[in-house]
Amino acid sequence: MNDLNKNLENVNARILRACQSAQRNPGDVRLLAVSKRQSVAKIRSLYGAGQLAFGENYVQEAISKQEQLGDLDIEWHFIGPIQSNKTRELARHFHWVHSVDREKILRRLSDSRSPDLPPLNICLQVNIDREVQKSGALSEEIPDLAQLAFSLTGIRLRGLMAIPRATKDTDGTLGSFRAMYALYEQLKDGGLPIDTLSMGMSSDIEQAIQAGSTLVRVGTALFGPRY
Ligand SMILES: *Cc1c(COP(=O)(O)O)cnc(C)c1O
Repeated sequence: MNDLNKNLENVNARILRACQSAQRNPGDVRLLAVSKRQSVAKIRSLYGAGQLAFGENYVQEAISKQEQLGDLDIEWHFIGPIQSNKTRELARHFHWVHSVDREKILRRLSDSRSPDLPPLNICLQVNIDREVQKSGALSEEIPDLAQLAFSLTGIRLRGLMAIPRATKDTDGTLGSFRAMYALYEQLKDGGLPIDTLSMGMSSDIEQAIQAGSTLVRVGTALFGPRY
């Protein structure tokens, strides 16, 4: 078995164990392979091992990879910061966008999504630890943004995404993930039909699943270091 297959097995085993210890159904947690600054050959190899969803952070890099991998039925997710002059390309080339944090981007993505395609799946990014440099809307802005997203026809609101503060304090990270879960549940209780809580990366898959993540975004634990 090659390294990538072994990494994929290890990550899926971590997800399974985390689900078991949280008494959650493993079918309720998806794996998104984060392939930014990883080679097309590695993506192809991981796809061959059964991984179908890949996440990218840079629009031009992603489109170039999509062209080279056009023979594969990959589900492409955009997870990077969004410039408003890139919304047309995002709406055309991706199935999901996880990093939407403002009204202008929501409206532009909806307006530029082709009516021939299914609505673009959207997560709203939350700046859960209120970090000055970080993208994402503040928690208190989320209910209004979510209502707006729900009302737009070119997009389909699926849920929320976050990247907690970088820290070795796993209890702190767990606290941030729990705050995300509370916000997610609040939107669902308010009647929004959402099903995705996008949180957890290579170093904190376990805490994210413990707190209720439904989609973990994993890069280096699958692919090794980025170029
Ligand atoms: C790069 C990235 C990841 C993956 O991070 P790893 O630590 O390599 O698993 C996940 N989410 C986002 C938004 C990223 O930019």
